[in-house]
Amino acid sequence: MTAHVRPEGLHFSVSQLKTWLRCPRAFEYRYIRGAEPEFVPMPLAFGSAFHEALAHHYGWLKAGETSPALEASKQRFVDSFTAARNGPVPLQNDDDDGETFDLLQAKGLGMVQVALAHPLAASKVLAVEHTFTVDLRHPDTGEVLDIKLLGVVDLVIEDDGHRTIVEHKTSARKYTADQLMFDVQPSAYAYAATQLGWGDVGLKFNVVTKTKIPVVQVEDLRRDDNDIEDFLRTAVGVLTAVEAGVSFPVRGWACKGCQYKARCRAAGASR
Ligand code: SF4
Repeated sequence: MTAHVRPEGLHFSVSQLKTWLRCPRAFEYRYIRGAEPEFVPMPLAFGSAFHEALAHHYGWLKAGETSPALEASKQRFVDSFTAARNGPVPLQNDDDDGETFDLLQAKGLGMVQVALAHPLAASKVLAVEHTFTVDLRHPDTGEVLDIKLLGVVDLVIEDDGHRTIVEHKTSARKYTADQLMFDVQPSAYAYAATQLGWGDVGLKFNVVTKTKIPVVQVEDLRRDDNDIEDFLRTAVGVLTAVEAGVSFPVRGWACKGCQYKARCRAAGASR
């Protein structure tokens, strides 16, 4: 990699961080070179459509509607998923499940229904798809870096005066304890909450499974000062690597659905 360019100008997003941790070469293709994706992974489009449906529902609640229309939220899912199928970049399902667009759409509608029937949906909604930009600080010196942390929180709710950040997930199966404990995203949000002056916020994952009968797994997550320090060390470490032009492939499960896999395979022999 020759371009020592910081991603997205002066912002570094949580999703960029997760992309680099998964595979620095995929990060390079996407954020440094701006390479055109070869396809849109069906699970990605599915997850986006699911998020849109839930955002529609919670946006409705935030606006003061007491009985939001489930059918309208489901239609939002269908519209978003269909738009992805009809978009300029082809949809592709590289999972071994063999699920077609139609099967996944039917499954998604069931998942939206189950997700919105969960008690979580009864909380007071403070914000939906809330974008934040906060200073990034060096974990040792406290120095404010010249690049900011950018993120989008799916949902902020309030119960008995206590604010909670909620992240929606779709998953083939329930999250394991390790997934819940080590995901960097809640740590980033806990850090952002301190910078935003939100005080002691709760963190939740709202996982809805893609199983035949969808299951809602709502988990409270704990992130303390050590986790926040770990997050800052990870973010600063990744930024340092990006600045230095570090890139390498990480072959593994992520390759199957990687949007740059043909390019990566072709480049493999010459890198
Ligand atoms: S195919 Fe695999 S190694 Fe290559 S960029 Fe994608 S995830 Fe990384």
